[in-house]
Amino acid sequence: MSNSHLREEVEKRRTFAIISHPDAGKTTITEQLLLFGGAIRQAGSVKGKKTGNFAKSDWMEIEKQRGISVTSSVMQFDYAGKRVNILDTPGHEDFSEDTYRTLMAVDAAVMVIDTAKGIEAQTKKLFKVVKDRGIPVFTFMNKLDRDGREPLDLLSELEEVLGIESYPMNWPIGMGKGLEGLYDVFHKRVELYRPENYEGERFIPLDETGDIPKTHKLFQNAVYTQAQEDVELLVEAGNVFDEERIQNGDLTPVFFGSALTNFGVETFLSTFLQFAPEPHAHKTIEGEEISPFVEEFSGFVFKIQANMNPAHRDRIAFVRISSGTFTRGMDVTLQRTGKKVKLSNVTQFMADARENVETAVAGDIIGVYDTGNYQVGDTITEGKLKVAYEELPTFTPELFMKVTAKNVMKQKSFHKGIEQLVQEGAIQLYTTVQTGDYIIGAVGQLQFEVFQYRMLNEYNAEVVMTPMGNKIARWFKEEDFDERMSSSRNILARDRFGNPLFLFENEFAMRWFADKYPNVELESLL
Ligand code: GDP
Repeated sequence: MSNSHLREEVEKRRTFAIISHPDAGKTTITEQLLLFGGAIRQAGSVKGKKTGNFAKSDWMEIEKQRGISVTSSVMQFDYAGKRVNILDTPGHEDFSEDTYRTLMAVDAAVMVIDTAKGIEAQTKKLFKVVKDRGIPVFTFMNKLDRDGREPLDLLSELEEVLGIESYPMNWPIGMGKGLEGLYDVFHKRVELYRPENYEGERFIPLDETGDIPKTHKLFQNAVYTQAQEDVELLVEAGNVFDEERIQNGDLTPVFFGSALTNFGVETFLSTFLQFAPEPHAHKTIEGEEISPFVEEFSGFVFKIQANMNPAHRDRIAFVRISSGTFTRGMDVTLQRTGKKVKLSNVTQFMADARENVETAVAGDIIGVYDTGNYQVGDTITEGKLKVAYEELPTFTPELFMKVTAKNVMKQKSFHKGIEQLVQEGAIQLYTTVQTGDYIIGAVGQLQFEVFQYRMLNEYNAEVVMTPMGNKIARWFKEEDFDERMSSSRNILARDRFGNPLFLFENEFAMRWFADKYPNVELESLL
């Protein structure tokens, strides 16, 4: 690909993830976006996966067996001249470190919030990761067709709970049964919810004074006046639209709508794509920035998904392309080992199963078939390009299990399995200082199940896991290390790098400890 062609292709890419709490409407809105992109023809095909529109791949089997979706973990479609990549962030029981790591591979995040519930636990956790990366966040306030909280309340919550300022791109005119439309500040128009109840026009332009024509039936409506008053208040006392602050993740543009009734979704999509950033440069370990327009291909592994089918031990390594062009069959170097690998068995993620998509460029995601070569965080590069991208952060686990080998005769395969799975990034491992017990930590229950399954299937090691429930992991400095600080309510352990930490039973135990040892500084990971 010539350099100008590469630039043109990369500039078209918009790669993002949707962050939300389960049931806020992520699947529903994803489907609407895919419909607009022409990638699916009917709603209901993302969760049901019955239509067969997704790339037919070997991975379909796994999905059926375990309900884990590989092909829908990246969805690509074209809209308004842009090539859009949506990366799925598994929630519910599928919540895992991979959910967090996926956020390392996107250039923007869309936060979907249920207007009746406001900001919920999982959204908060995911937002923190996004905030830490400083990437732009766009907010969609969903379920406007139902009665929810006051819009002004929702905006204050963004600021108070998440610490992000907001700019409303549009504003609800009514809610629930009384929903009439959106007062679209940004496009200077009103978008009607049920145009058939009025003159049939969906969009009514606003005049210089910010009004729809006085003759319009909606003009008399109290909800319209209310929306106008709210917006006036926001114009006077609220934030100003500032593109730079949006790009830095300091200001979130807020859109209202209803994914289920497909209201406000296309307005959101087209406006979002207007401001969502194109692929950005990635930092190497040395702190050098590699531009996406560099001709040589490079990319990093942000998640590894194991095949849950016992007949296949293979897995898929998800690679975010950071620079250049991927071509099927190309040779790359795995920087960690210096090993050469041929990228021939690779899955791409066109959601509409377009044939012959042979290339992908910076911003895109490819799924590389892996027999055990890759670890999370690995960099692969083409030709003379010799870079290793920054390590991915480790996330503080919340769930813990004690693990032992069921069969004492199989200690060797037990240790080998644990070591490899920990290195690959599938699970976190800790060793207790007092008894030398193995404790594994995860951010979601599924990680344990995958661990147990893979230990048995790939390493022939049956493991016994004893739940320890939720714990609060906090690291501290080696110089503060003192075995006497340990108790049953604050277990002293070391992580796989040898760093000391405590696993506290609960907040109370942690506060008690902090009171007793005020000089020991406790730190969490991301
Ligand atoms: P996810 O868990 O975030 O993927 O949420 P889903 O998209 O599966 O939605 C959860 C539930 O909320 C489903 O029953 C949806 O039909 C419903 N839902 C999603 N969007 C809306 C909406 O705009 N209005 C209403 N009333 N329900 C919605």
